[in-house]
Amino acid sequence: MMELKQEEKGHMHPLTIITRHVVGIFTDMGYEVALGPEIETEYNNFDALNVPKDHPARDMQDTFWLKDRPGELLRTHVSAHQVPYMKEHTPPFKMVSPGRVFRYEATDATHEVQFHYIEGLLVGEKISLAHLKGTLEYFLKKLFGDDVIMRFRPAYFPFVEPGVEVDMRCFKCGGSGCSSCKNSGWIEILGAGLVHPNVLTNGGIDPKKWSGFAFGMGVDRLAMLKWGVDDVRLFYSGDLRLVNQF
Ligand SMILES: [Zn+2]
Repeated sequence: MMELKQEEKGHMHPLTIITRHVVGIFTDMGYEVALGPEIETEYNNFDALNVPKDHPARDMQDTFWLKDRPGELLRTHVSAHQVPYMKEHTPPFKMVSPGRVFRYEATDATHEVQFHYIEGLLVGEKISLAHLKGTLEYFLKKLFGDDVIMRFRPAYFPFVEPGVEVDMRCFKCGGSGCSSCKNSGWIEILGAGLVHPNVLTNGGIDPKKWSGFAFGMGVDRLAMLKWGVDDVRLFYSGDLRLVNQF
């Protein structure tokens, strides 16, 4: 007689799980979810976001340009949807945008040509770095636990002024330095800043009246940190030994 085997159930992919978790934290704070297209114009992906004409990110070596559609590309960041969104909405507003982005680079344990990103944008009156810091600290504690210690470090991104990199105190060593944090005691987690006045202007928003913040984070990186996965390619290999653990 044939033995009755228990039917195998499907599993959600870890990147789906973490995307839903992150988006859920922001929608609980009143953020709207906005989705943009994966094929974008050079204008929305670069010009509208204040990226200089000669910026190296525009190179053939970094961006997938579409052969038969001049001036179009696979978006390199989800921010490509920010200016179109601003044109269609009147402040104050806040939104998060999850999605795939593409970079033309060699793959290794921490780089893939496609990866998943979540970006956020908030525009209102008198928005400052303090609002950004409070929002991100709340978010990181919801995702990683109440003992998260976070810091801002000055950084340059063309679409924000000022720009910051956000680091978290290393979970593994508690800040004393280990191989996971390259002995710095800190782990880089996301990029953010106050929206550049040129970007607001491109979105039809008066930078004298309104200000805002934006942030962006790699979902793959969040998942690697949350679950201790050390090779990003595992998420795209379709290996059930990974997926079945979730
Ligand atoms: Zn460490």
